[in-house]
Amino acid sequence: MESTLILTLTAALFFSGSAVMITARLHNRGLMGLGWLGLSLASGGVGVVLLLNSNRLPLLASVLSWDMSILIALVLLHVGVLELAASRSLFPTFGTALLAFQVGSDLYCVYGNAGNRFRITVFGLLIAGQLIDTAIHLLKISKHGGQLPSQFTAVILWGAVATNLVRSCMAIYGLSWGREVTHRVWDLTTIAYTVAVLGVAFGFFWTSITIRTSGLEHMAGTDPLTRLFNRRLFLTWCEKEWLRSQKTGAFFSILMIDLDHFKRINDTFGHHIGDLALCAAVEKIQDAMRGIDVIGRWGGEEFAALLPGANHQAACLVADRVRRNIQRVSLSPVSKVGTGGEKRLSLTACVGIATHLNAEDTVQAMMRRADQALYTAKTNGRNRVDG
Ligand code: GH3
Ligand code: MG
Ligand code: MG
Repeated sequence: MESTLILTLTAALFFSGSAVMITARLHNRGLMGLGWLGLSLASGGVGVVLLLNSNRLPLLASVLSWDMSILIALVLLHVGVLELAASRSLFPTFGTALLAFQVGSDLYCVYGNAGNRFRITVFGLLIAGQLIDTAIHLLKISKHGGQLPSQFTAVILWGAVATNLVRSCMAIYGLSWGREVTHRVWDLTTIAYTVAVLGVAFGFFWTSITIRTSGLEHMAGTDPLTRLFNRRLFLTWCEKEWLRSQKTGAFFSILMIDLDHFKRINDTFGHHIGDLALCAAVEKIQDAMRGIDVIGRWGGEEFAALLPGANHQAACLVADRVRRNIQRVSLSPVSKVGTGGEKRLSLTACVGIATHLNAEDTVQAMMRRADQALYTAKTNGRNRVDG
């Protein structure tokens, strides 16, 4: 195939890919990084168009515009990866340094008569540097739930690094292969590049969607204020533990925890401080638990805890530890609503316990017993454990 045709098709692919990515991002704000990927593809497309018209431009303009548009495309791709990885800053420090270096190298090449080999060597190294930096950042995304797709994208980036090195070496040493062979290998590496770009675009899109989906699943199962499991997910954990106990005969217990007179906290200090108090109570409940225990927000100021392996005696100890810990919640003096005075906020809670009795005992029956025990603790006064 003619080099011009290959490049024209490549430019068309880049521009249409760019339009697809930017449209997808505008329609779904949760698809992180896709806007930057779209801009990156557009910059790559501009680079290819400039390459096609390089004969019509003065030397410096032709060299600078091609080198810069390709490097800018890679830096924009890197910014997209930073956005995907939820980095605090999207500023591409390394990429900006590479761009500055590229300008210097192009100027030196044209005015210092350093020659094309020098330019291609530097350009090849700068591209490889940026690609490697991006591939390393992509692997950090694994933490956010996009492990397989981000690894896939990183592998393609490493492939692009290799193609880039072949192309650079060819440009430097391969000119003696003869016009025909050089052209053929050159076209092949152009096609390899285009395939790599398509692979990266696909992998990036896949990563973004996976992160979005796992984020939505996480949100669907957790309470946004306390970040505890919600009632639905908590019950799923209980059912799993129940099944395990049916198989192994292992003990487990459930606690129901309800903060005392919490309405008064809201009335006295305001809803915002009430929210802070809820989070402080959750921290104290977590402090009282072991790593394998599961805590959920049952609703409002009520929490539930699943204690795998805990018999009634162990559950009583944990329940009392929860009660005592919550008593230790102490927020700094806060203004009392309406009075302008200050008062230290303190909390207490009641805890109801239910321990799995036998094979006929169900999670629903245990929840009812824990709730009944909680009610008894409330009616006997507050700051108590029952069950
Ligand atoms: P008791 O000792 O009998 O449990 O009394 P209580 O006041 O804690 O119980 P009640 O059920 O009467 O009131 C619960 C209060 O918890 C009322 C509601 O405004 C408050 N609450 C529930 N969810 C939230 C929340 O997310 N944030 C805040 N700030 N308050 C909440
Ligand atoms: Mg309450
Ligand atoms: Mg309540």
